[in-house]
Parts: sequence; structure tokens; C-alpha cells
Amino acid sequence: MSHLPQLHGFSVNQNEWFVEDVRLSDIAQKYGTPCYVYSHKALTQAFMAYEKACLRPDGSRRARVHFAMKSNSNLAILDVFAKLGAGFDLVSGGELERVIAAGGNPHLCVFSGVGKSVAEIRQALEVGVKCFNVESIPELDRINDIAGKLNKVAPISLRVNPDVDAKTHPYISTGLKDNKFGVAYESVLSTYETAKSMGHCKIIGIDCHIGSQILDIQPFLDALDRILLLIKELSQRGIHIQHLDLGGGLGIDYEGETTPNITEFANTLLNHIETKGFGYLDVIFEPGRSLVGNAGVLLTEVEYLKPTPAKNFCIVNAAMNDLMRPAMYEAFHAIVPAQNKPIPSETYDVVGPVCESGDWLGKDRQLAIEQGDLLLILSAGAYGSSMSSNYNTRPKIPEIMVKGQQIFLIRERETVQDILALERKLPDLI
Ligand SMILES: *Cc1c(COP(=O)(O)O)cnc(C)c1O
Repeated sequence: MSHLPQLHGFSVNQNEWFVEDVRLSDIAQKYGTPCYVYSHKALTQAFMAYEKACLRPDGSRRARVHFAMKSNSNLAILDVFAKLGAGFDLVSGGELERVIAAGGNPHLCVFSGVGKSVAEIRQALEVGVKCFNVESIPELDRINDIAGKLNKVAPISLRVNPDVDAKTHPYISTGLKDNKFGVAYESVLSTYETAKSMGHCKIIGIDCHIGSQILDIQPFLDALDRILLLIKELSQRGIHIQHLDLGGGLGIDYEGETTPNITEFANTLLNHIETKGFGYLDVIFEPGRSLVGNAGVLLTEVEYLKPTPAKNFCIVNAAMNDLMRPAMYEAFHAIVPAQNKPIPSETYDVVGPVCESGDWLGKDRQLAIEQGDLLLILSAGAYGSSMSSNYNTRPKIPEIMVKGQQIFLIRERETVQDILALERKLPDLI
């Protein structure tokens, strides 16, 4: 059998998969398939693993987690993290509205992204976000201009492109100089000088985010050293940085990857900062995947088993519109039957019903299954539901959170009427 990721909250008991104290098959019966299922315990454990490093023995805070909510922005998930003391890293006005709807604190939000619109900047200034993570001079100009009109001062940080190689998939690498993110390393000091001269911007921080699914701590340390150097040079120029935002990007175990332990990862970076004499800085982590990725599964059902001369296909009722990662990045997700059966196994490509050859969820998987069986697509908590679409007019699927024996429906299944509601035919006269 292929490797299964280390999971909290999900386990096998007497040949049946459970989420906490609940059978996955019971969830399928109650809510239908496909659906996303999350473990409250797994979310909490991952968050507390960061928090353990963020708090000093005396209880004072040396760092704070700002959950990168694009990885999973369901209100219930935001609520869980907000109640544990998280801030949020957001990338759109819509995400800011979600934080507020979930009861999160806008003052604990950093606003990232290369393309903030006028309306988004105004909205963020009005509710008072903690910081704009700025990526270019035109963006600084726009923020300064809008802040001036609102008679406000915008707190800003520059997103530095540290030009380090995170050795991850090219589509999820963001810290090399040839991609669109951040201010080029050589231009950072002059860009801060420009920001300093702007009457309605207040420099408070510096940030970076070098990529995603990074399995080694070294690229983070490389980026950190390059940024500490900048902080020192800035202070010599009279620009005093208060917070250092190290972005997200820590990888998770999908198929046997050795990942840094979260607490050790965070401690290593924080201790490095203190050792280098920068212990006065407030540090921000922006994890997404490492908080939610292994806290969720996609539960699906086998529609047909289709042997062909070349391959066996297992056609399930979940598809690329529900979980885009395999089609988009050729990402691997372990797939297991919800109930182990004593029948012979076969090698299958697990595919969805969408009319695209890219619509697959797993290739060459050894599975002992029959039509109608339930499958769990593991490690689907991050960039699963939040990246889903209505392609092929497939309604978005429900999301369920389990805590102990309690089951909560945290997103209802969408209907086709919901999808059609905003569309209009042309008038008859045309
Ligand atoms: C996507 C993103 C994150 C989170 O990345 P993960 O790999 O999910 O931890 C953090 N910060 C920024 C700016 C991002 O764009």
C-alpha cells in the first residue's frame, strides 16, 4: 500500500474510517456525497503547534499567526481560528468581509496581493486593517491617494522578493526574482524612501512570502537573513520597522514527505531573529496549508468502475471543480476506501465526471473497491473548497465539521437554482 499522510482527527477503527468519533459512512448517509469533512481537533492542534512557539514562557507574545484564509475561508473555520487568537492574511475585499462576518478582528488583518483595487483599499482603510502588504510603487501611490481623501494614514509594509529558491512547484513558488510577487530586492530600500515621503502612508513593517508546500527550513532562513539585513539598513536611514511578516508556505505530508515539525519550524525562525539581535520585532506567520491541509478530507462515492484495454478507471462523483489541485498542479492526494473490504484490489485512475481529460483525482492507485463504495481523498483541507468552481454546472458541495461526536453542517449543498439565480436570458424582442 502507498504511504498515508500522518493525520490528526482521522483514524481507522475496525476497518472503518472515522473523523474524531464519527464514521465517515454515517456522514455520507446523512449529507450525501461528495462533501468536505473537517476535524475540529486537527485544526486546533495545528494552530496550537504554532502558538506554542509564538508565546514566551512568561505568556508574552513574540509572534502571531495570521491564517492565510485563501487556503480555506469557510466562516466556521475562520471562527475557530479567531477564537484561538489568530489574525488573518487576506487577499481581497471579499475575504475582508468574510473575516468580519465570522467575528474576526479587522485590526488583526494584513492585506496581501499584487492587485488591490481602489474599492478594496478604501474598504480596508475604513475598517482599519493592521497593515497593507504593498508590492509596487503604483500601489503605494494609490493607497496614499485614497488614504489622503479619507483623511487617514495607511499602515504599510513592503513585500520583499528575497530572490531565494524554495524548490517547490513552479506554480506555487513566489520568491524568485522572475515572478510577479513583491518588490525586487535591489529596489526595496529606495521604495521605502518613496513610501517615507508619502504623507498618508506610515511604514510599520516588512514582509515576504517565498512559496508554498516548502519542505525545508533553509529557504526560510535564507529569506530571513536577507530581510534582517534590509531592516538594519533601513534603520540606518531612519526608517524603523516594527514588525516582520515571514509569510506562509510550510509544507505538509501528502505522500510521505518529511515535513518540519510546526513548533520547531517556528521556534527556529524566532530564535534566529532573537540571536541576531532583532528580538524587539513583532513577528507574523501567515500559514495556510499547514493549518488546514491535513484537517480535511473530500468524501466521494464510486459511480462506476470502468475497465478499458489500457487502464482501469474508477469514476467518482467528485471532480476537478470540487478539488482542483491534481488538475492544476498534478498534486498528489492519498485516496482510501472509507471501509476496508476483503476483496481483491486493482490499479485504478480515479477520475471525475467532468468533460476534461485533466479531470482526475489520483493516478495508478491500488484500491479494493466496488461500485457504490465511499472513498476518502485525504489532505484536502487546504486549497480544496476555496478553489472550487461551478464548472459543468456542478453545484458547490457541502462542508461538514466534526468535533468529538458532534457534527456541524458548515456549508449547505448548493442547488442548480442557486447557480442560475444571477443569470438572465435576453428579452424576447431581440
Ligand atoms: C498563499 C499565501 C500564504 C499561505 O501560503 P501556504 O502555503 O498555504 O502556507 C501566506 N501569505 C501569502 C502572502 C500568500 O499569498
